[in-house]
Amino acid sequence: MELTAEKAWNECLDVIRDNVSVQSYRTWFEPLRAARLEEMNEGLSLTVRLPSRFYFEWLEEHYFSLLRSTVTRVLGPTGKLFYDVTIEKEDVGTGNSGSSMHLPARRPANEPQGRALWAERASGTPQHTASLPASPEHGISNPFVIPGIRKVHVESRLNPNYTFDRFIEGDCNRLARSAALAIAQNPGGTSFNPFLLYGGVGLGKTHLIQAIGNYVQANAPADTVLYVSSEQFTNEFVQAIQHNKVSDFSLMYRQIDLLIIDDVQFFSGKEKTQEEFFHIFNALHQNGKQIVLSADRAPRDIKGVEERLLSRFQWGLSADVQSPEFETRMAILHRKASEDGIDIAEDILQYMAHNITSNIRELEGALIRLLAHGTLYNRDVDLVLAKDVLMDLVGDTRAPVTIDQIQRVVCQYFNVSEDLVRAKTRKREVVRARQVAMYFAKELTHHSLKTIGLHFGGRDHSTVIHARRSIKNQVETDSAFRQVVEEIAHAIELRTR
Ligand code: ADP
Ligand code: MG
Repeated sequence: MELTAEKAWNECLDVIRDNVSVQSYRTWFEPLRAARLEEMNEGLSLTVRLPSRFYFEWLEEHYFSLLRSTVTRVLGPTGKLFYDVTIEKEDVGTGNSGSSMHLPARRPANEPQGRALWAERASGTPQHTASLPASPEHGISNPFVIPGIRKVHVESRLNPNYTFDRFIEGDCNRLARSAALAIAQNPGGTSFNPFLLYGGVGLGKTHLIQAIGNYVQANAPADTVLYVSSEQFTNEFVQAIQHNKVSDFSLMYRQIDLLIIDDVQFFSGKEKTQEEFFHIFNALHQNGKQIVLSADRAPRDIKGVEERLLSRFQWGLSADVQSPEFETRMAILHRKASEDGIDIAEDILQYMAHNITSNIRELEGALIRLLAHGTLYNRDVDLVLAKDVLMDLVGDTRAPVTIDQIQRVVCQYFNVSEDLVRAKTRKREVVRARQVAMYFAKELTHHSLKTIGLHFGGRDHSTVIHARRSIKNQVETDSAFRQVVEEIAHAIELRTR
């Protein structure tokens, strides 16, 4: 049978599957697609399509020799592998959604980083390749390496809780996490420099970039790590100017081995700060130091930051984090609950994961709020409490209250039978319960007086009017009774929660 691209690639996948972990296989190989199989002068060449440039970097970095031996095995000693990468255009105005590149899966021997090849290939395409690393400018002089300068101690400012261990992996952050871990294991030594992590609020950017810092601190204690937000950087730079300490500021930054700057979009409009950061960036990058950045949006969407800085942000790797899927939200809730040593029923966690969908910080906040309420008001942490507490977070999505539900709650409160409230009896305690229920039926539902009357044993609408007036009067004049009515109102409010 004739060998097709699909078949050849499937054979490769069989080999690869035996050589990498299940997780790596799923992350890095499953998303690849066979594109073409061609007969070239020297032999067969197989082209696979990669979902993004990120994969190209990653495969070259981590699986180069595995891919080479696999392809040789499947296609013979002259077999070659090529990648097709679709690169998103920055300029959406052209109406063309992307441009494609064809890359040999092989680095030339004289170019260990694979950079020149990539840049050379890229040069045919206009500069709109969003995450494509341009080749770093050469010849930036580095006046900052002062021989013999003594290192001052730099406090890392890391939050020790933000570790990889505590970071739950899901489809929403898998690539970003893998890249972050690779960087942490080899800061400055991967082609992911700088690493720019971007995405909306509360999706774990700060956690992940600090995890890199904590990992490096734990495993390479001699490395100087610094985490700052771009606001801190700005404020401290302004202070340095005011106190004539700009050169100290500069020197301090130039001795960092791993510099992590959070929320770089806040550099927007701060030209002096950007300029200072530009020089620090160049100095560190040239010396092979690792730079890790986060932003709340893709670099091409950041406004008010100089082009030369934005383009540097994209020299290395840009990866995004997205909103977590249901399973990841559940996993995060499980983890947080167990970290806090609390046992929360599955249905409550599911309720939360179903209703809080966009943001991990909110999910965490909801859990904390739930526990706080449980402790504060000494209530069981159950679904009723969960619904109650999370109401303003998720909005009231319940069906409107029904007359039957009102009758049930009121009768439970007064300990009378629901049947009696719907019957003709004139027993005093039943009459009271019936009036209260009628009052709430009028207050809380949109039913007409007539309909309400019908629900109470076919009574006339004037009976409902009378009941309502009587309850209102007593609420106004009798504080003990007012409290009774408030308690019932609360119970009705909680009826289904
Ligand atoms: P961002 O910087 O993107 O706004 P953060 O990193 O501050 O978000 O995350 C918000 C909260 O959610 C933090 O407490 C963080 O620990 C938690 N969090 C975010 N993503 C995860 C994750 N994947 N696993 C565990 N906790 C997470
Ligand atoms: Mg953050």
